[in-house]
Amino acid sequence: MNIHYTSINTGSNGNCFYIGNAGEAILVDVGIRKSVLLSRMESLGLSMNEIKGIFITHEHSDHIFGLRTLLNEFSIPIYTTPECYQQIRHLMPEELFRPIAANDQIAFQQFRVKSFAKQHDAANPFSIVVESGSGNIGVITDCGMLCHSLVNHFQQCQVVFLESNYCPEMLDNGRYPKFLKHRIKGGLGHLSNRQAKELVISHRHPQLQHLILSHLSGNNNRPQLVSDTFSGFESDFKVTVASRDINTDLFVLGEITVRKQTLRVEAPQQLGLWE
Ligand SMILES: [Zn+2]
Ligand SMILES: [Zn+2]
Repeated sequence: MNIHYTSINTGSNGNCFYIGNAGEAILVDVGIRKSVLLSRMESLGLSMNEIKGIFITHEHSDHIFGLRTLLNEFSIPIYTTPECYQQIRHLMPEELFRPIAANDQIAFQQFRVKSFAKQHDAANPFSIVVESGSGNIGVITDCGMLCHSLVNHFQQCQVVFLESNYCPEMLDNGRYPKFLKHRIKGGLGHLSNRQAKELVISHRHPQLQHLILSHLSGNNNRPQLVSDTFSGFESDFKVTVASRDINTDLFVLGEITVRKQTLRVEAPQQLGLWE
């Protein structure tokens, strides 16, 4: 079966990604309300019954906000590091915890999930690459720097959700306090538009098909800026700037076609996060 992928939501206001198909799928992070998650999945023709595991990359609220209420209704295994679990154990039944290392491989029937360590100010955080017979899909957000591990995994992916969090000039000239500016652009914060572009220029897979710019800041970035930054690549691969307010279309790995058009479901939530 084809592997589908979509951003249910991404941004410093909440992150949740879907990868898989009707037989078997995973979510990466649950940083949005359960009601928003379920309605957006329904609009895409997706069901929670498909979800065989949820990967929680780290404990920041834009990655776990909806976890407790989701697990009140659905019993789904949670894959995360023991260090992250210590931070989120109050949100979930212990029996759902599936410990993984930051550098690990978890086999499902139709694909394999490879986790890898990243530089971010959280408890043993990781990102993932989903490997399937049709190609590899990376979910790479919340990275403070272009470390060796990130570069190595990025270049294996034909499809990538890649963080493009902030515009350096907007951050420098913006209203955030100094310590927060340093947190964001320090080595344990987030990737800027410039860093994401540098990564794409120097290290992309020769057959990169689809780049989905993700985890945009609400205060220090604009979708149009990101779109302009990556406009030169559109003859080489598909470029999508994922919205902070709505899901992307449901794409098919290797086909870049849309299974079902998106519907606007409801107004975005605001968590008021300093990211
Ligand atoms: Zn985040
Ligand atoms: Zn984070």
